[in-house]
Amino acid sequence: MRDHFELRDGDAAGRIGELTVPRAGVTVETPALMPVINPNIRTVAPARLRSEFGAEILITNSYIINSNEDLRERALDVGLHELLDFDGAIVTDSGSFQLAEYGDIDVTTREILQFQHDIGSDVGTPVDIPTPPDVPREQAERELATTEEALADAEDVDTGEMLVNAPVQGSTYPDLREEAGRHADGTELDVFPVGAVVPLMNSYRYADMIDVVAGAKRGLGRDAPVHLFGAGHPMMFALAVAAGCDLFDSAAYAIYARDDRYMTVRGTEHLEDIEYFPCSCAVCSAHGPDELREFDDEERERLLAEHNLHVSFAEIRRIKQAIRSGNLLELVESRARSHPAMLDGYRALLDHADQLEREDPVSKGSFFYLSNESARRPEVRRHHERVGRIDADSRVLLTQGGKPSGDAFDAVWRVVPPFGPFPRALSETYPLTAEVPERTDREACEAAAEGVARVAAANPDSSFVLAHDGWPDSALERVPEGVEIETVGSDERE
Ligand SMILES: [Zn+2]
Repeated sequence: MRDHFELRDGDAAGRIGELTVPRAGVTVETPALMPVINPNIRTVAPARLRSEFGAEILITNSYIINSNEDLRERALDVGLHELLDFDGAIVTDSGSFQLAEYGDIDVTTREILQFQHDIGSDVGTPVDIPTPPDVPREQAERELATTEEALADAEDVDTGEMLVNAPVQGSTYPDLREEAGRHADGTELDVFPVGAVVPLMNSYRYADMIDVVAGAKRGLGRDAPVHLFGAGHPMMFALAVAAGCDLFDSAAYAIYARDDRYMTVRGTEHLEDIEYFPCSCAVCSAHGPDELREFDDEERERLLAEHNLHVSFAEIRRIKQAIRSGNLLELVESRARSHPAMLDGYRALLDHADQLEREDPVSKGSFFYLSNESARRPEVRRHHERVGRIDADSRVLLTQGGKPSGDAFDAVWRVVPPFGPFPRALSETYPLTAEVPERTDREACEAAAEGVARVAAANPDSSFVLAHDGWPDSALERVPEGVEIETVGSDERE
């Protein structure tokens, strides 16, 4: 176990954790949002980020500081915390972004880590190579090898109590991300940014983003704090947390504000298109859209940035509460309804249900069946595995509600889509206490049929009768041949 990161609570692969940052003397509760501070432009003062928005950690760029003589001297002289006027934890980036953007930078990993240490950074970063999506595999492999050399250099630098990032690259090749994750996890380094996903998010490729994160997570240990580098839009925080991300950074709050863009958990609006604010933060309570448009550029940008921060921090708090309440996937499911690309992201997450299932708590507060995607949730998989281990009597009725039709049975099991059959004694255990709609859908019946198949396969010497309530053919086709099928008569229901 990494002793600077402790897991407190979990839901799906999401978790509430405590990241101890020894050099800052603070413990950051995750999931956490790190506002990005450009050392040259302070849209919102860092001291206010802490006192008014609750930011415990922020991120700034040591490369920019190092490249500007005046900033460099002041940072070396008074230290980063005084330079920025922030007493929480400060993460510093290394210039990798500039390297990707301009092809060359004039510092090495050893130099920039030493500099980050000297100015008092709490979490430093080596110079990795953020390989963009869709490059040829050979390029992704070559650049990953360079990133891994940078991690080895970083291990050699004496950074004292400063934590050090170990970026995980590998472009859009999930197997390379997994290998990179495993390699990074094997180093002595501390925090694990999944890098170069910004182009995926900018083009709404949330499904690819999830595949990349899932790859990295397979390689990383469960106790590794994961930073989704460059992810700053609140609409995707819940999805990324459910995939196992712990840290986010937002430059978006300021960049969007400069462009008159107003963030919501359902997407982004242009200020000129808004007639009513769907928000009651301090900014939106004090001003209507017309009023906000009247401010001069600088004031309007600051107010929009503040709203963008409020909505982002509120979403992080909502996610933490959802983890505590055990309904994170319900939140992800509702966020997935805000944009088709988000729905793709959620469907991609469910492709990794087996991986989620390994971390998902066995018992939670509630399971709400909210859409056909709910049929693919990890809890359904787990139920199928569990029910496949139960010994059945020799003649068993599996029924969605009807009475036994004449024959005597040794046992009667309930059938609830999407879970399928289970002994009545399990009725009050999670997730079988689920709230499901009266009007069930095809996917739920198909998943229930798979449950029937599991039970039948596990008990080859038993005979089963399934009494179903109007299942479609696509579900009945999944019921094994040896199982007798009847329909539940509506007048026979209990
Ligand atoms: Zn607002």
